[in-house]
Amino acid sequence: VADRSEEAVVIAGHFGFAAGVKARAPAAPLWALMLGSQWLDVVFVPLLVAGVERLEPLDVSRPGAYGGAVIHADYTHSLVGALVLSALFGASFLARYGGRSAVVLGLVAFSHWLLDLPFHRADMPVLPGGAGGLPKLGFGLWELPAVAGGIELLIVVAGAAMYWTAARAVAGPDAAMRRRAHACGAAVLAAGLLTLGLNLLGT
Ligand SMILES: [Zn+2]
Repeated sequence: VADRSEEAVVIAGHFGFAAGVKARAPAAPLWALMLGSQWLDVVFVPLLVAGVERLEPLDVSRPGAYGGAVIHADYTHSLVGALVLSALFGASFLARYGGRSAVVLGLVAFSHWLLDLPFHRADMPVLPGGAGGLPKLGFGLWELPAVAGGIELLIVVAGAAMYWTAARAVAGPDAAMRRRAHACGAAVLAAGLLTLGLNLLGT
């Protein structure tokens, strides 16, 4: 089940980003922001199972290592594929949450691709399926796990801090509401740190 942790790389960074966005766009539900930040990877899972997209571990002795894979997600993680999937994700919230939240959620879904870009090893095509033979994108930060992990940690802490601050502001002086805000902020931070820790351990 190494594959499951492989596809979870950068999950903590995406998660921290979504928590930060919640602070700025309170009308969009947190669960939808979290889902949106992972949406491309969510679609990736059935395609992985179907064999349309796949993972190629660099070190077969440590197949779950943090960032230790070339990811052949030629549809979900192609630039054009990511734009289409993100637009569909945002549009699905239009009727229920309104235009502003739909746009925010679509942008959060696309932020996954932008956040993946510095980390992936030049494995993200421009067109779905790598059509046209255009150069693949990705700056390969995973070659430097300490740097990549440090950047993710920063995103997690900054996102949780923004969310925490916003939750406290919304809670106002009410003691019960403040306790809830603290609990939510701590939970967001703990979940982010736990996810990052598990990835770094390669479990
Ligand atoms: Zn991804």
